[in-house]
Amino acid sequence: MALIVQKFGGTSVGDIERICNVAEKVKREVDAGNQVIVTVSAMAGITNQMVEYVEQVSSLEDAEAFADYDVVVSSGEQVTSGLLALRLRSLGIPARAWLGWQIPFRTSRTHGKARIEKIETDAIRESMANGRVAVVAGFQGITEDNRITTLGRGGTDTSAVALAAAFGADRCDIYTDVDGVYTADPRIVPRARKLDLVAYEEMLEMASLGAKVLQTRSVEMAMNHGVKVQVLSSFEDKPGTLLVREDEIMEKEQITGIAYSRDEARITLSDVADKPGISAAIFGPLAEANINVDMIVQNVTPDGKATDVTFTVARGDLERAVKVLEDNRDSITFQNMHTDDGVAKLSVIGVGMRSHAGVAQQMFATLAEKNINIIVITTSEIKVSVLIDEEYIELALRALHTAYGLDAVVEKG
Ligand code: ADP
Ligand code: ASP
Ligand code: MG
Repeated sequence: MALIVQKFGGTSVGDIERICNVAEKVKREVDAGNQVIVTVSAMAGITNQMVEYVEQVSSLEDAEAFADYDVVVSSGEQVTSGLLALRLRSLGIPARAWLGWQIPFRTSRTHGKARIEKIETDAIRESMANGRVAVVAGFQGITEDNRITTLGRGGTDTSAVALAAAFGADRCDIYTDVDGVYTADPRIVPRARKLDLVAYEEMLEMASLGAKVLQTRSVEMAMNHGVKVQVLSSFEDKPGTLLVREDEIMEKEQITGIAYSRDEARITLSDVADKPGISAAIFGPLAEANINVDMIVQNVTPDGKATDVTFTVARGDLERAVKVLEDNRDSITFQNMHTDDGVAKLSVIGVGMRSHAGVAQQMFATLAEKNINIIVITTSEIKVSVLIDEEYIELALRALHTAYGLDAVVEKG
């Protein structure tokens, strides 16, 4: 008997009819003789609605406020887990819903983006031993002092992989509104191609660089614990995409996928004194304020006196970053600060890059051909990212998709 974890995202449980459809998918695994743990997201749109409610009554200034934020935004998953368990019982499948605190699903105290520490498995194991399907509310956990937490947006993916790791599941199936992981977001690039296999490392980069089909931490966890993850459609019956080790992919393309993120803002400090310690003076206070800095470029100065420093932060952090920099103006000694929140990051990703030269050059040449200016460039062993004007993001994405030969072959009918 295999143990399967199934995860259903927001669109997949978006209304009652869809929840009934999900129950059928669970039933099929049970009928096949498998033990099943299901985890569900809130109905599509509900978590956003909860976040909006919270923002209407609070500016969330302290950590304590975030604890109550979690009480509100975790609520959608309570509803869907209960409804699915009820539906399963109506189909004659013994089931029960589990909230994070009932398991307990232990996390850190970092409300709004808590990290999973330990999942107690005894109570669920006992219930499953009595033939009951466990329907776990995704996205939520509980601290040691019994406060509800959430795992960050898109966190039910991570709930699913963590459950699969804790219970030693044979498979973790992530059901969503697309039928797998594509070479690029299929909603933006109509010619994107479905991948049968994707290496954990590539998926990790794709997710962290903007492909929201999986939450980044879920991929990290799957990689660390060797969880067999499959991404597939909850609306169609066909195989999806398997996450595998890099050495399991025989044919390594130069590029596996392209990701983009609009959640970017640029800050340029000009005429900064060019002396040792200046980077620490800029990035130290930002780090202290918990602001993540992503891409960084510093100009070389011919006379060694003053330089310009450009870097990016998440768009939602821009206002705070500007304030931190202004407050530290004396120690940083910059003359001017320019900001731009109309930028976006485009990244090409692939383990094949390790053995192919010219990947970055192809990117630059393709963007030049379209007259798209590159503001910042960063690279790692398996990715190249550029920052460009947000208005060109879709054009650039499609052009690169074609340039790297990723377009799906359209069959002539
Ligand atoms: P769920 O609610 O099931 O968690 P999400 O909306 O979080 O679903 O993630 C699925 C979405 O991810 C798809 O609808 C698609 O638009 C988007 N997406 C972005 N990049 C990719 C990609 N490379 N492959 C597949 N989907 C992608
Ligand atoms: N409902 C949560 C969100 O919208 C978690 C999830 O869907 O994975 O972010
Ligand atoms: Mg999601």
